[in-house]
Amino acid sequence: MKRRTFIQQATAGTALATIGGLGLQSFTSLESVEKITILHTNDVHSHIDAFGPEDGRNANKGGVARRASLIDGIRKDNPNTLLLDAGDIFQGTPYFNYYGGELEFKLMSKLKYDAATIGNHDFDNGIEGLYAQLPHAKFQFISANYDFSNTIMDTHTKPYKVFKKGNIKIGVFGLGIELEGLVDPAMFKETKYLDPIETSQEMTRILKTENQCDLIICLSHLGYHYKYDKISDLKLAEATRNIDLIIGGHTHTFLSKPTVVKNIDGKNMLVNQVGCYGINLGKIDFYFDNVKNKSANGTSIIV
Ligand SMILES: [Zn+2]
Repeated sequence: MKRRTFIQQATAGTALATIGGLGLQSFTSLESVEKITILHTNDVHSHIDAFGPEDGRNANKGGVARRASLIDGIRKDNPNTLLLDAGDIFQGTPYFNYYGGELEFKLMSKLKYDAATIGNHDFDNGIEGLYAQLPHAKFQFISANYDFSNTIMDTHTKPYKVFKKGNIKIGVFGLGIELEGLVDPAMFKETKYLDPIETSQEMTRILKTENQCDLIICLSHLGYHYKYDKISDLKLAEATRNIDLIIGGHTHTFLSKPTVVKNIDGKNMLVNQVGCYGINLGKIDFYFDNVKNKSANGTSIIV
């Protein structure tokens, strides 16, 4: 991509941030730029149809069909696109009550989601209910802090996945919320919850050092922020290193653009979340120069 095009695109959106420790000046002087687009949803909660005209402020918004055509257009513009979901795919409409999540997984497969993490409501038909729908999902479930080894889900999730788009290696790992106190133990059975911060440090070590990823994304269902002392995306962001983007869920937080947070090394990274019910689609463009310095520009698109 030519520099002029890059600058136009980079300033058209809402939140241009330099990621890592380098200044923009070191970035814009370079000629070639590679662009990776990250699209994301969270807490879609079985909302397959668009909201009706009578649905107040959500009137005529959302729906899988419109999300699909939006995503198609963005992929045509940039084939180097990843589509991710941060959990709570299940529960919220009669589609889930009747079909148990089959439609949600089939439609996400048609939209070619690359990966999803697991939310607390994805256990609403028990861990067996989640397991039963897995054959309908053609995308990878990733969770690094749910230890499923004593459950039926054992070997059906991965802690992380590495994607290659153009010359860029993207590492994505998943984090779930503590289920104890939130979900009936009869539903999640012997799923063990591991500490999100310790897990993240292990994941970023593997992704950065062993896999030499250029971009590291955490798909989280921890929640954006709490007024009381509970691990959240903002806390995780400040306490860890080498994560470029946390895509969040659970708290149904509508952000119009990603929050820029300084990590434990004082370097910028992004936290984003797009509310719920498929009303918005998150879109974050990462730009890499030829020595892989990166910059990001994020926005939330109303579906
Ligand atoms: Zn939710």
